[in-house]
Amino acid sequence: MTVGSGTVNFQTVRETNLGVVLRTVRELAPCSRAAVASATGLNKTTVSSLVSDLMARGLVRETGRNARQRVGRPGVLLALDDSSIAAVGLEVNVDYLSVVAVDLLQRELLSRHVPFDARTAGAEESVLRIAHTLGDVLADPALSGRTVVGVSVAVPALIDAPSGVVTHAPNLGWRDVPLRERLSELLGAAGAEGVPVRVDNDANLGAVAEYRVGSFAGTADLAYLTGEVGIGAGLLADGEPLRGASGFAGEVGHLPLLPDGPECACGRRGCLEALAGIGAILREAVPDRVPDRPLSGSDIAALVETAAERAENGDATAVGALERAGTWLGRGLAVLINVTNPGLVVLGGYFVPMGPWLLPNCRAEAVASAFAPRAGGCRVELSSLGLSAAARGGATSLIHSLDAGLLPLPGPRASAAPDPV
Ligand SMILES: [Zn+2]
Repeated sequence: MTVGSGTVNFQTVRETNLGVVLRTVRELAPCSRAAVASATGLNKTTVSSLVSDLMARGLVRETGRNARQRVGRPGVLLALDDSSIAAVGLEVNVDYLSVVAVDLLQRELLSRHVPFDARTAGAEESVLRIAHTLGDVLADPALSGRTVVGVSVAVPALIDAPSGVVTHAPNLGWRDVPLRERLSELLGAAGAEGVPVRVDNDANLGAVAEYRVGSFAGTADLAYLTGEVGIGAGLLADGEPLRGASGFAGEVGHLPLLPDGPECACGRRGCLEALAGIGAILREAVPDRVPDRPLSGSDIAALVETAAERAENGDATAVGALERAGTWLGRGLAVLINVTNPGLVVLGGYFVPMGPWLLPNCRAEAVASAFAPRAGGCRVELSSLGLSAAARGGATSLIHSLDAGLLPLPGPRASAAPDPV
């Protein structure tokens, strides 16, 4: 069905068709080979050969016979094999690393939160720590016996995704870090040679996670806002990431909202993240607790907890600071809504524990400031994916890439029988 011009080689067509059959089994399972043939338009002999190949690679398995089939020889049913592969997503933040591994069915195999001060550590030490953390995860018993099809690393930064270079990460203090190349070398040296490594922006991967596995999964036009020291937006238009010409679409943290406002990490004044980023919120909400220096990674989680506790107890300073931040967020969202018309905006990261005090003003201001009536029907909600949304998005996106033929399928397993066709 996918045979194209004469320049397409046999291997490419076969690999494309393996992806087509894998995707079809995911959609229809449990299903017979005949059902796959009928859904794909491929002939039955070809489907049988492709299914045998996918079984040898540990991606599809037989589940038993179809009891509902009353005429003819009962067909064997197929399902995805959830026991053979894993995809790993890691996210780097100013104050932590988060790692998630999932199986072929997108079920979580492992999740880790590692406190780590990436800003103080600097780029080179951070790269070593990321590689070390990934090495630990690959050796974890939860992944034992599984082929790791890829590793995705999310960074709060401008990223050149094709080369995997972190171009500029102001909140980490990194510039031009060839992260994919370095991690490939380090993982190779640690015995995980050839595992594909991807690097992407954390907000983009957070958006992918919300679209595929979040509480509002399936909303194809959405924006995900990272609630960290910086604020970034991952934008999906019709389910596809909107990256822009050089990859920095969605930098809403630097929307200039208040002339002569507080100084921003980018060197300008009055940017959204200087008004409503986590650092800015904490300095206003718990002023007596914030040290007179840049917040270290280890400060942030504790201070967020204190701010939420005080707001819960009705502390006027904390509540006022969170409500003002909510208003600024709403004003920033109005700009985003005017430009991209999302059906849903999801607030993630540390915005979630502060959500009860941020959301009312945020929603009201977005409606008041956006051009379209009721902000075009855009909902503003809190993420259910916690501090690992971008890690989850990376792992999820690797599995999606397997189905879509954008990532090499694992080779036949050592124990697999040879293809009979
Ligand atoms: Zn800025």
